Amino acid sequence: VDDLLLLSGGLESTALAALERPSCLTIDYGQVPADGEVAAAQAVAHALDLDHHVVRVDLSLTGSGTLASSAPASEAPSEEWWPFRNQLLVTVAAAWALPRGYGRILVGSAAGDAFHQDGTSGFYDLLSALLKYQEGDLQVAAPAIEESSLALLRRAALKRELLGWTFSCHRAAVACGDCPGCNKRRGVLHDYGLWATA
Ligand SMILES: [Zn+2]
Repeated sequence: VDDLLLLSGGLESTALAALERPSCLTIDYGQVPADGEVAAAQAVAHALDLDHHVVRVDLSLTGSGTLASSAPASEAPSEEWWPFRNQLLVTVAAAWALPRGYGRILVGSAAGDAFHQDGTSGFYDLLSALLKYQEGDLQVAAPAIEESSLALLRRAALKRELLGWTFSCHRAAVACGDCPGCNKRRGVLHDYGLWATA
């Protein structure tokens, strides 16, 4: 089956792009850093010589938290949590993928995402079962769901030249350097040996 990877331009989806060599899709769903994600994903896909597509669908009215530039919902497990975000994104990707003949949606969730329910293997099992129940027999897979971001980077053996394009900011289209997304990226790259400290 042909795979379609949700490529945000972050470390994990970039590693999966390198490992799995799927077609790639970036969704601008109205998140504040959308332009940064699209630019990073385009650069990553170009560097890896992979197909890349962009779908723009404004879901900003459904958002809350940092990515929507508003206060987090009271249920939010972290400031950047957007209610049902991964469900929304996989659904948009699946609807786009079905008439184009893809068989599987890949997502870059890793072990460190399990602090929210839509970053767990249980969630993706349920979502995949729901897709398979419907027309088209699509599946969703999270190949790195049991793996730390660092282990995933090591497995993909990503080079500095590629990692330099990655982007994880939650607050702006140009990396702010001081949000949970930027801080996590910097920490993983440091542990990977690619961040010079003063
Ligand atoms: Zn940031």
